[in-house]
Amino acid sequence: MNLIVARPEGLYCPQGDFYIDPWRPVESAVITHGHSDHARTGHARYLAHEKGEGILRARLGDITLQTLAYGEPLTHNGVRISLHPAGHVLGSAQVRVEHGGEVWVASGDYKLEDDGTCAPFEPVACNTFITESTFGLPIYRWPSQPELFADINQWWRGNAAAGRASVLFCYAFGKAQRLLHGVDASIGPIIAHGAVEPLNRVYREAGANLPATRTVAEVDASAIGQSLVLAPPSAQGTPWMRRFGHYSDAFASGWMLLRGARRRRGVDRGFVMSDHADWPGLQRAIDGTGAERVFVTHGSVAVMVRWLRERGLDAQGFKTEYGGDDDIADQAVPSAAAQKGGIEPEGAPPASAPFPGDAAS
Ligand SMILES: [Zn+2]
Repeated sequence: MNLIVARPEGLYCPQGDFYIDPWRPVESAVITHGHSDHARTGHARYLAHEKGEGILRARLGDITLQTLAYGEPLTHNGVRISLHPAGHVLGSAQVRVEHGGEVWVASGDYKLEDDGTCAPFEPVACNTFITESTFGLPIYRWPSQPELFADINQWWRGNAAAGRASVLFCYAFGKAQRLLHGVDASIGPIIAHGAVEPLNRVYREAGANLPATRTVAEVDASAIGQSLVLAPPSAQGTPWMRRFGHYSDAFASGWMLLRGARRRRGVDRGFVMSDHADWPGLQRAIDGTGAERVFVTHGSVAVMVRWLRERGLDAQGFKTEYGGDDDIADQAVPSAAAQKGGIEPEGAPPASAPFPGDAAS
């Protein structure tokens, strides 16, 4: 029995008549997280994790949204749905679907290392696991977080000693907050670009412990040379950068592991940092589910499918339109928030539950 199938609109549960992260407009959409390749506009009703609400409303505007806590079940058309931590970004969830004694889990995007800004990944036992595979090649192995932040802090400290601002390009949703949480804020002031700060606010409101950030105007000119600047990749080469004079720049992404990636970005330093699981992380996550069948969605699908089949699992690719939030999706960050001039939604949240559960369980 297939609880989730691929349809032109997205991953679909026929028994429950709902989609997971659909890329075309549908009636009922369960959203794994707020990155723009997973959370799209135009669905009639949304279901997502409660900590993803701020991001979804900021990005998608006045949507009809129902939220769940992690592990809280909802029965919809006789299918039991629950959301479980994916460790990817604030509010990210794996979707567990149960019907007729069968359990499927759609991972959305995930990573295994606890980054301190969102609920860490939890393996969920299932018969069939639908996994991402963004970095599904054996070459992708991330440095540990202590190693990563030691490198970043050393770079910032060196620049500060030389009176040069440290400009770190990173995606505004997820990466920037992880960086904020992990850096040594005693080195100097931290300046957040206008596309980053609204997301910092959403994280802080959700309880994330982030150091203080300022706008460039709030930092004394004499202290600019000691500052760390967090800016989205789209800020590169814009007039905004001129305020920092002669600065050192860097880019934080999993792709920085590839030879030539730093040079193509035209930055001084590349830090290998991803919100996705690396190759060993993907294996560990898949093993942890105990699933006998695995569907592989975006990324290195063919390599991952072959590897899983060699291990005796029933594996196949699933064609989706996800991909590359580590690379592309977050470049145009403020979408709905910018158009509205703020992160807050204009309308009041709907009074009734938009994603109706039914009584049967
Ligand atoms: Zn994502």
